[in-house]
Amino acid sequence: MTPPNRNNDARVFERLESSVRGYCRSFPTVFETARGHELVDERGRRYVDFFAGAGALNYGHAEPHLHAALVEYLGRGGIVHSLDLYTSAKRHFLERLEERILAPRALEYRVMFPGPTGTNAVESALKLARKVTGRTNVVSFTNGFHGMTLGALSVTGNASKRAGAHVPLHDATAMPFCGYFGGGVDTLDVFEQQLEDASSGLDRPAAVIVETVQAEGGVNVASAAWLGRLARICRERSIVLVVDDIQVGCGRTGPFFSFERAGITPDVVTLSKSLSGFGTPLSAVLIRPDLDQWAPGEHNGTFRGHNLAFVTAAAAIEHFWSDGGLSRDVVRKAALAKARLTAMRDAHPEHVVEHRGVGLIQGIVFADPSLAVATSREAFARGVLMETAGPRDEVLKLLCPLTIPDEALAEGLDVVAAALGAALARRAHERRASPSTVAQA
Ligand SMILES: *Cc1c(COP(=O)(O)O)cnc(C)c1O
Repeated sequence: MTPPNRNNDARVFERLESSVRGYCRSFPTVFETARGHELVDERGRRYVDFFAGAGALNYGHAEPHLHAALVEYLGRGGIVHSLDLYTSAKRHFLERLEERILAPRALEYRVMFPGPTGTNAVESALKLARKVTGRTNVVSFTNGFHGMTLGALSVTGNASKRAGAHVPLHDATAMPFCGYFGGGVDTLDVFEQQLEDASSGLDRPAAVIVETVQAEGGVNVASAAWLGRLARICRERSIVLVVDDIQVGCGRTGPFFSFERAGITPDVVTLSKSLSGFGTPLSAVLIRPDLDQWAPGEHNGTFRGHNLAFVTAAAAIEHFWSDGGLSRDVVRKAALAKARLTAMRDAHPEHVVEHRGVGLIQGIVFADPSLAVATSREAFARGVLMETAGPRDEVLKLLCPLTIPDEALAEGLDVVAAALGAALARRAHERRASPSTVAQA
């Protein structure tokens, strides 16, 4: 079963794989196995995962209950591919979702399975909102990230990602996210005033798309009050409110849905990343029933709802969402993480200027983005995977599996603190060695 160990040989990737490859440049080794919060490379080196597949592995790698369900399903000849045919695996998933996630929260949604990626869920949500309202414009927010296909890019803030489209991105208007002008300014004053003013130049949008915590955008947390006001603005004007819960749903902030914190009920919710729980691709769009006006097959695709993902997604709901245990764990671990991350800020206030986050998505903000990147690199050298985020990569972002043991989380964060110390020491050394070069860099 196990392939022969190839000793971390990365030559074929560099020879054959497109230059578009990205994350492997930050974490250059050849991974072979993974379990829980740990990855192991071909040299047998172990790494603590503070990256969790960009939020696709909230329950860790190869979670034993999910793994067992998958192996059992394959063992009994369960159907793997089925387009959008009815299957027992899909029924089992839908029943679990209804019974343990939707009904206890009094949420009524129809469930759509688009293609298996997050960006496909976003495209579906935008298409549907435009169809239902007959309007074209969509309002998104500064620093929002919604995926890499054209519709999703049109509502994404980041200039370099947008530039990759190489065509005009239109029918979308960016509004300032919560806190964009610092404390004391309610940015929704801008949006609401523009909607009120018939001469503001803003057409009434079909939809508003928002992340309750902007993940790629730098761990920007919208306040509950801001989200509540946004929901009211949308409701009063029949604007479809889409919450993109692809990265911060499935327990990342504590509750299953990130918007529960704000007590709002979005019209449409996009889910993906950790929905299957196992890293098997799956995405879903939750749709307020009266908005579910799709014609059969109007949004189509070959891999809509994959049975292997349904099996692990149902097992994840059964195992992790039958009681409030996981949410309580997230709250406890979040406090632990916050204490250690704020200690790093307090130890180096001139370099680490802010701590942000809620639940187990947290970040520390560096005055100099290159120091965030250098700390990530030093952490990797010490066996911790931790990514940077934000418009200038200035935020070092903690996104560990929610299931990580407290001790492993604490130890990993101690490694990050040591990595930060090492990055600062290296910088000081380089500055002494060659002041002019560093000043230019
Ligand atoms: C990752 C992400 C997406 C895109 O998902 P893909 O599976 O990469 O297409 C969309 N929205 C948010 C908030 C994300 O984090």
